[in-house]
Amino acid sequence: MPILNGDSMADSSAKVLDYATALDVLKNEYSERDGIDVKTLTDSRVNGGLTYNDFLILPGYIGFPASEVTLDTPVTKRITLKTPFISSPMDTVTEHSMAIHIALLGGLGVIHHNCSADEQAEMVRKVKRFENGFILDPVVISPKTTVGEAKALKEKWGFGGFPVTENGTLRSKLVGIITTRDIQFHDELDDPVTAVMSKDLVMAFQNTSLRVANDLLSKSKKGKLPIVDNKGNLIALLSRSDLMKNLHYPLASKLPQSKQLISAAAIGTRPEDKDRLQKLVDAGLDIVVLDSSQGNSMYQIEMIKYIKEKHPSLDVIGGNVVTREQAASLIAAGVDGLRIGMGSGSACITQEVMAVGRPQAAAVYNVTQFAKRFGVPCIADGGIQNVGHIVKGLALGATTVMMGGLLAGTTESPGQYFVSREGQLVKAYRGMGSIDAMEDKKAGAGSKNAKASNAGTARYFSEGDRLLVAQGVSGSVLDRGSVTKFVPYLMAGVQHSLQDIGVKSLDELQQGVADGTVRFELRTVSAQAEGNVHGLHTFDKKLYS
Ligand code: GDP
Ligand code: 5GP
Repeated sequence: MPILNGDSMADSSAKVLDYATALDVLKNEYSERDGIDVKTLTDSRVNGGLTYNDFLILPGYIGFPASEVTLDTPVTKRITLKTPFISSPMDTVTEHSMAIHIALLGGLGVIHHNCSADEQAEMVRKVKRFENGFILDPVVISPKTTVGEAKALKEKWGFGGFPVTENGTLRSKLVGIITTRDIQFHDELDDPVTAVMSKDLVMAFQNTSLRVANDLLSKSKKGKLPIVDNKGNLIALLSRSDLMKNLHYPLASKLPQSKQLISAAAIGTRPEDKDRLQKLVDAGLDIVVLDSSQGNSMYQIEMIKYIKEKHPSLDVIGGNVVTREQAASLIAAGVDGLRIGMGSGSACITQEVMAVGRPQAAAVYNVTQFAKRFGVPCIADGGIQNVGHIVKGLALGATTVMMGGLLAGTTESPGQYFVSREGQLVKAYRGMGSIDAMEDKKAGAGSKNAKASNAGTARYFSEGDRLLVAQGVSGSVLDRGSVTKFVPYLMAGVQHSLQDIGVKSLDELQQGVADGTVRFELRTVSAQAEGNVHGLHTFDKKLYS
């Protein structure tokens, strides 16, 4: 009987091994699968606290194309996304543009709070308004509105299709519609809109289903479909561009009823944050993230309880946490999701300055294994530098990953590109605990109320301090183009990785890790060097095309 190890490999009989024999040998002579299971991997008494770079996942069997891998995953107890990507609530990462585009691609953007409550609420409103099914609160104008006023409204809202009703409000008789084309080249700004509006309207009646209304709109060749009651009063509006958005972004993170994008925003845990939250809720907020570097505090626990009582339909993500004990406090207070990470962010110096924190892989595994017993989804926040890190975070139990630096160089992040001293196109990226962010130097960010609206000092509990102790740095990151290309690259990368592992979904991945069929290997320092480009004189690291 040939065996597969040692000197006998030289035995010529080894060559005649067929597949069935190989499987027999595997079954009969090896009690364990190759590699190590997740418990052995993450035993910190033996291996220390691991980071993503310290291990690899072993390949499995590929029995399906990568395109069949699905990435659906919960972000809170009630809300599921189609891709596991979340952009961080940092003032160089997520404002409305990032939040809209990442949500269109199936992820979620958490709008930062280093600005006034009104500015943040306006950004939430923009996310909610961006895509709709029935628009139940359309901007409506009256017959007396002038062409100049209609142009100003288009400038303000970003769209120019306004129904005209007898008294200029919803539930009043519809008399026409003004469109961008009607006013575009009309220079008599004082003319009433009735001089140029369209009156031959295709309409649908109240109680028409969204599917039927969409069908009517697509066949009508018009840009808008007003919905009226049996007296001809305007009830709602349907927009052709929403049909196109639906077509182009099939993975978009939307709520089933409204078809609006899911919006998320961060707040602190001070008393004035309750007023801020009210404004965000009025703007349509779906998920609130309590933004603190050390979430296990009496302030956060009180805030979670307050939100659960005052805004029961809002989902609350608590954090940040890195231990089971921290997680237990927030779970007991009622969070719908947790955010994991302390000191692993790319712009972060917490571990160095405060001597607290935890290597991210260790934090993710320990917290997620505890939280999943209570059905609480977890975000692995920080330290994601590439697709491999995303997959490792998810394999260790996170349901989503949050990225700051990786998304900061995209077109959709706030701020302008500039050319670095080395001649490369870059954008600013700063930790929210950097002196810059804590002093809120961003033009206009905190307006006259800068101190009261500073997310950096709140996140790092420094608002009352006379001396600010930095827990982050400010710098720049390379241009990454648009998230509309970068996020699909991340998505395809994760699909290919799961295919290599031999699992078809994130659920299967986590199941395989739990039952020991997905295996791991620790990496020595030289293994890490081997796994990176080495021995080349020059190379060009282009990640996708
Ligand atoms: P318009 O033709 O200039 O109105 O603009 P588009 O049709 O290109 O875009 C309208 C987009 O804005 C759609 O996705 C709508 O769902 C969204 N939207 C949100 N609220 C409103 C609203 O009150 N009126 C209109 N016309 N669109 C709205
Ligand atoms: P990145 O994706 O850049 O590695 O990490 C982003 C995460 O870093 C954020 O979501 C946040 O949790 C964390 N972070 C942001 N700013 C700071 C900071 O100034 N100090 C620390 N310690 N963490 C930060």
